[in-house]
Amino acid sequence: MPSRTFSIFCNQCTEFILRYRKEGSGSLIRIYVKQILEPEYFKQFKNKKLKSETPRLNCPQCLQRVGIAVIHEPGKRPAYRMIKGTFIKKES
Ligand SMILES: [Zn+2]
Repeated sequence: MPSRTFSIFCNQCTEFILRYRKEGSGSLIRIYVKQILEPEYFKQFKNKKLKSETPRLNCPQCLQRVGIAVIHEPGKRPAYRMIKGTFIKKES
């Protein structure tokens, strides 16, 4: 399956939030922690099974919330459901 890489920025203050490897087409509705390439910080959470163990996904600068932690079935993969209108994505 082809994959593409996106950088996500805050729509409020334009701060860089994360870089993500996306498989397949379609819009960015849900992102898997395992596929977050940057910042490195997220790697330690890739095998968590509880959403309470996954950090909040906020803009590091203005603290706007851009995603909600979820555990995606099947496979219990930690992920974020992205909040529409809070971020800008650019292919990178
Ligand atoms: Zn921001």
